[in-house]
Amino acid sequence: MNQCRHDRTTPDFLPCTVSQVLDWSVQKIEHVDARALLQHVMQVNHAYLLAHADDLLSSDHFRRFSKLVWERIKGVPIAYLTGLREFYDLTFKVTPAVLIPRPETELLVEQALAKIPESRAMKILDLGTGSGAIAITIAKHRPRSHVTAIDLSIDAIAIAKWNAQNLATGNIRIVQSNWFEKLVAGKSFDLIVSNPPYVAQNDPHLQQGDLRFEPDVALSTHDNGLACIRYIIATAPAYLVDGGQLLLEHGYDQSVQCRDLLEAQGFCNIHSQTDLAGIERVSGGSYYAENLQPGMQ
Ligand code: GLN
Repeated sequence: MNQCRHDRTTPDFLPCTVSQVLDWSVQKIEHVDARALLQHVMQVNHAYLLAHADDLLSSDHFRRFSKLVWERIKGVPIAYLTGLREFYDLTFKVTPAVLIPRPETELLVEQALAKIPESRAMKILDLGTGSGAIAITIAKHRPRSHVTAIDLSIDAIAIAKWNAQNLATGNIRIVQSNWFEKLVAGKSFDLIVSNPPYVAQNDPHLQQGDLRFEPDVALSTHDNGLACIRYIIATAPAYLVDGGQLLLEHGYDQSVQCRDLLEAQGFCNIHSQTDLAGIERVSGGSYYAENLQPGMQ
């Protein structure tokens, strides 16, 4: 058997065992990433890799794995290379057309679920759904609710629809729309949730890590990252039933501004929740029409 030479940049020698090819790749990328990519190519779990460390890799698996390793070296996010991301308790298809669902966004889902009684048929709107992770997770956990998910991007809508179908989500409607534009006017939603773009356009993080490969339209916006949050807070009352609630994910330093905007708009019961890192990440409030200040429509 040929030896798998670790100093080669193009693995053009075969056969190699699972452990040899992992040894080769961990000199170039993180071990956890190498394992995820090899599992993806072989369509096996970690236990299988461990149990079959001495198995020979097929040339097709070898070729596909080494291609992904090179993509990873360039910085392409693992989720885009495998096309999958776990979120809450579900697995979502992701492509570069959508933001990769983040663990901190699970807080938004948790908060939303806490506000949706299992027994009630509540109407929920998710603005800027991307892969559909938030909307579909809510819909799956609250089968009596009716979830509407909108996104501006036609490509994102296709992914969200694929995920909804793959996860057999019946109580969801996915609509291509520029925010509220294609929704029927009127106060019909009990809860509006959103993880809008909120990174400032000049934020250096946009040039780092996974963010370099994610869609700008889903990540950043003008007004120091506040433009979409400001717009949603200003427009949501026209679509909320009396006492309806709005829940927004926002940047690590935007909770005070978010609460101020909610208050200025006439929301009450305004609150913020911290994520696992202890950062205020989700803010929201309820809207009652009688809260309107004199002169406001
Ligand atoms: N929290 C994400 C990040 O900073 C951004 C998500 C968003 O813009 N909605 O990586």
